[in-house]
Amino acid sequence: MSQVYDITIIGAGPVGLATAYYAGHREATVCIVESLEQLGGQVAAVYPEKHVFDVAGHPKVQGQALADLCAEQGLQFGADVLLGEEVKDLTRIGQNGEEVLQLTTHSGKAVQSRVLIVTAGHGAFEPRKLGVDGVDAWEGKGLHYFVRQKDAFRDKSCVIVGGGDSALDWTLGLQDTAALPITLIHRRERFRALESSVTAARRLEEEGKVRIVVPAEVREIDGNGTVERVLVENTSTGETQEIACDALITLLGFHSHLGSIADWGLELHGKRQILVDPATMETSLPGVYAAGDVAGYEGKITLITIGFGEAAIAANNAIAKIRGEKVQPKYSTD
Ligand SMILES: Cc1cc2nc3c(=O)[nH]c(=O)nc-3n(C[C@H](O)[C@H](O)[C@H](O)COP(=O)(O)OP(=O)(O)OC[C@H]3O[C@@H](n4cnc5c(N)ncnc54)[C@H](O)[C@@H]3O)c2cc1C
Repeated sequence: MSQVYDITIIGAGPVGLATAYYAGHREATVCIVESLEQLGGQVAAVYPEKHVFDVAGHPKVQGQALADLCAEQGLQFGADVLLGEEVKDLTRIGQNGEEVLQLTTHSGKAVQSRVLIVTAGHGAFEPRKLGVDGVDAWEGKGLHYFVRQKDAFRDKSCVIVGGGDSALDWTLGLQDTAALPITLIHRRERFRALESSVTAARRLEEEGKVRIVVPAEVREIDGNGTVERVLVENTSTGETQEIACDALITLLGFHSHLGSIADWGLELHGKRQILVDPATMETSLPGVYAAGDVAGYEGKITLITIGFGEAAIAANNAIAKIRGEKVQPKYSTD
């Protein structure tokens, strides 16, 4: 991309999306870069089915619904969004007589902007992967870390791995799409997921629509170019069995790391947060702001509601800096 944006936002969690709202509302051009293939940060990745009760104006809202509302609000002014791109490097370059910040992603994409607002939460999310040799080679060849479109699994024989809400939700949610039975593999006897989901899966097992294999782990993935079968070991007896499948869906949660952002020379607050001045949300690097869980200062509370406030402070201060104005937030009412 050769365009110079006013603002690049790293991270499309609730706070990144709120930042995009405030920036767009002030007619700043925005690019959001997100390492996951989805919007919504922790809320969508970690607890999409749980209810949140403490976001002002929402007495009770499900995680995914909150993420969707944040996306609808944040993207209404047409921010560009780069999904599946982890930001790695930050450099300063000259561009048409002005100094701009250039971010480079893990795949080599470059994004240039006048200021940068880091809303990276605990760092870039990555799906937890199976501890199987050569697992990465099966990505895009029948191994999935998300269920984005149910239709991609139509009439496919699916093996789902995991014991949490996502694994159970998709074991139930793909019943009308995938070939039955769907195999559910979990390394423990007990599932962490909501009891009612586990009960529903057990009921479907009795009807022959779900096959539950526990306590078990996938030891090998095999196939001729695409996934055709997995070798599964019962970790209690040591017995192994081959299970034929067209789709292997591993839903083992996510882990995150601040990664290379921690090496940019930003002053940190503790080990995992970027130190900011809470009056402006500016970091120790000129033109670089931070908000949300990743931003630290004395007395910081890591809550969505606090991040929303910080998003407004960061975006309005960043815009004042770009335009050489005093900080003047505008009301949104029309
Ligand atoms: C189980 C659970 C329950 C919670 N319940 C509540 C609650 O009830 N109320 C509440 O207020 N808070 C709650 N929280 C906390 C809340 O989810 C966080 O405060 C909030 O998600 C922070 O938003 P954020 O946008 O700052 O960061 P995140 O939601 O973490 O989003 C950051 C995004 O940035 C991306 N990213 C990071 N680094 C990079 C990079 N280098 N390149 C590209 N993208 C990157 C990540 O992939 C991620 O999507 C809960 C958290 C958990 C885990």
